Amino acid sequence: MSELAYPYEAPASQALFDRAAAVTPGGVNSPVRAFRAVGGTPRFMVSGSGPYLTDADGREYVDLVCSWGPMILGHAHPEVVAAVQEAVARGTSFGTPAEGEVALAEAMVERVAPLEEVRLVSSGTEATMSAIRLARGFTQRTKVIKFAGCYHGHVDSLLAAAGSGVATFALPDTPGVTGAQASDTIVLPYNDLDAVHAAFAAHPGEIACVITEASPGNMGVVPPLPGFNQGLKDACAANGALFVSDEVMTGFRTSRAGWYGVEGVVPDLMTFGKVMGGGFPAAAFGGRADVMAHLAPAGPVYQAGTLSGNPVATAAGLAQLRLLDDAAYAKVNAVSEQIQGLVIEALSKEGVAHTLQTASNMFSVFFTDGPVRDYEDAKAQESFRYTAFFHALLANGVYLPPSSFESWFVSTAHDERAVQRIADALPAAARAAAEATA
Ligand code: PLP
Repeated sequence: MSELAYPYEAPASQALFDRAAAVTPGGVNSPVRAFRAVGGTPRFMVSGSGPYLTDADGREYVDLVCSWGPMILGHAHPEVVAAVQEAVARGTSFGTPAEGEVALAEAMVERVAPLEEVRLVSSGTEATMSAIRLARGFTQRTKVIKFAGCYHGHVDSLLAAAGSGVATFALPDTPGVTGAQASDTIVLPYNDLDAVHAAFAAHPGEIACVITEASPGNMGVVPPLPGFNQGLKDACAANGALFVSDEVMTGFRTSRAGWYGVEGVVPDLMTFGKVMGGGFPAAAFGGRADVMAHLAPAGPVYQAGTLSGNPVATAAGLAQLRLLDDAAYAKVNAVSEQIQGLVIEALSKEGVAHTLQTASNMFSVFFTDGPVRDYEDAKAQESFRYTAFFHALLANGVYLPPSSFESWFVSTAHDERAVQRIADALPAAARAAAEATA
């Protein structure tokens, strides 16, 4: 590691991690942050500006995680910060309806045609949990189909064969989820419509909904094969089930109207989070008005939240959505393509087997000859090469997701200087990946 530009130790982060470990399980508040898949000390960040994060040791990184997706305008965008400051000064929570939540819901409905009505919540987990409850309440059925490698938050019934941290830590099952919850979940291989048809045939009248990531990013980026999402929609329609498209990651990121805007398949229900909260805890679920009418207080399916539609979070989300016009998406897509090209070039030059997969401006690298179509393919990659690649980039000021089962994210703030930093760091990282051993 002598050729690396930065000293590799992170004493201030290490000291914070030691303090954290004494009061928080594993020292983190969300598992993948702990760096267990890649080893080493998680970096404690103290500030973010544009495409950069600065850690407790004063080192600056080009951020390719963007808070796992939300920061599509970069960190501390002045207009988002101003909107937040203005909202905070008016009070941080009222526990009553307020105009900001109406404006955010209107902005979402205006952008995403199938979204006739929307209910705001505080996390993507809450959004999918509530959508599943609503689907069950609406159809009066119990079973849910999900796909291996798709992550929908830490909802009990949706943790089976989940992506993201569950994939990173190779957890077969999570203790604490009851047999009843697990047995109502049917887990199928992603991109396999035959398996979906077989499941409907095996459980006539029992399946409430199919939930899928609109385009999965939680096993790395594994886009749907052409016709897969439409096939899901058709199978649901033919069997009286609801099609739930989880756009927590893709929503307002992969296009102005999220993955729906890319593919045009109309779901019955959709879930959102990340970008729509502008870096604050705001998320949502919504869709067909006749289905949403079953939600309390209009209907019998209960769902609620003390901080739902929080005025600061909705101000941040609204400011971010207002800035996300066609030009902004063109910029994110262009810089994403530029970085993708650099990654492919560096790995190819070192002869490292890899597959770079994309879903609009989301992308990730699998250290395997592709294509990667499902979770089994994703797991077959040589993750030890990712570990070497990750650490070499980290040491040279580029922050990747600390797991090979995650999407990489860029923002409108990733400018030429940031891209140059990545370009400069990539050759050593590709070499490290080539030289890595299991
Ligand atoms: N659904 C998808 C597709 C996600 O990527 C995530 C989080 O990464 C969630 C749901 C859960 O969202 P949250 O972490 O806000 O609970």
